[in-house]
Amino acid sequence: MTTDLYRVLPEEMDELVIRLGQPRYRADQLLHALYQASPKNISELHQIPSEMQNALVAAGYTIGSKSEVQRVTSEDGDTTKLLIKFDDETQIETVLMQYNPSQNNKTHPRSTVCVSTQVGCPMGCVFCATGQMGFEKNLKAEEIVAQVLHFAHLLRQRGEHVTNLVFMGMGEPLANYSETILAIRLLTHPRAFGLGQRNITISTVGVIAGIDKLADEDIQVKLAISLHAPNDLLRKKLVPTAGPHSVEDLILAAKRYFKKTGRRVTFEYALIDGINDSNKAAAELAQLLKGNGAHVNLIPMNPTAGGFSRPARKRVLAFQQILRDGGVNCTVRVEKGSEISAACGQLRTDVIKNTTR
Ligand code: SF4
Repeated sequence: MTTDLYRVLPEEMDELVIRLGQPRYRADQLLHALYQASPKNISELHQIPSEMQNALVAAGYTIGSKSEVQRVTSEDGDTTKLLIKFDDETQIETVLMQYNPSQNNKTHPRSTVCVSTQVGCPMGCVFCATGQMGFEKNLKAEEIVAQVLHFAHLLRQRGEHVTNLVFMGMGEPLANYSETILAIRLLTHPRAFGLGQRNITISTVGVIAGIDKLADEDIQVKLAISLHAPNDLLRKKLVPTAGPHSVEDLILAAKRYFKKTGRRVTFEYALIDGINDSNKAAAELAQLLKGNGAHVNLIPMNPTAGGFSRPARKRVLAFQQILRDGGVNCTVRVEKGSEISAACGQLRTDVIKNTTR
């Protein structure tokens, strides 16, 4: 049995180096090498003596391999999508989205990585390429961390760094709860990757037990709930695994989360042409969310294989206006990189299609 060094928390690293007969400061050297130098294996940990490298290998520690299968970048250069393959041959997508408000400035004040937490997804949302693949496996914490470090390494070469992280890639993060939380602890630990907890958003399609558990954690991440419909009938058509949880249950879970953490929940709503984008749906949504300080993020959907399409801009704005008139705070997400299949699961689907033709 081996243990990947990218799942060892700094406190555990302190114990590990002492167990190996090394002084405690070696733990910080090791962490610095892991999170700042992107080593591919233990022999590349040049900051620590070879005697300690050998002791780590003998004790069963390793650095798992990963490789880029494909990289595509949008025309404006602001969105990069990677297909990454792990040791066991499974492949996932991860995306970097950069925002550059000034055309004259070459650096980006915000560089957000969108990570996957599962290979495939058990939730089966009918409009989602990942949902249509079925579920293969939960990613381990080190495989989630690897996605962020891969982009961190690319950005470092340009003098930039990862500023934000969203759990909105392939998979339902709260259905892979413990590995997702461990990855967040590693990525936000000041002695490891050191990303600010408040710069992280977890997006769930509605795992209520996970939302309640998250509210009890000592981590300050933001939460987004993907609602996609204002009533149970429509929601169960779009999210077949919504099962016993009603829209009302989700609103109540969001209220409990806010009460416990003081952090407001964002509701995400993928706008699908002719399915959930009517004036009636907007009015129903406004009625549902009115008065509880909710924020709605409308996401005009990227076209996927399921034949669903994005509403016209006019329809999106009309939907937004009805929510605003109903007293609900509402924004429209700026879609980035749709020409490079930036919606979750699309690149992997495209690559699989092209290699099996
Ligand atoms: S939208 Fe998210 S939760 Fe739904 S199937 Fe796709 S990856 Fe899973």
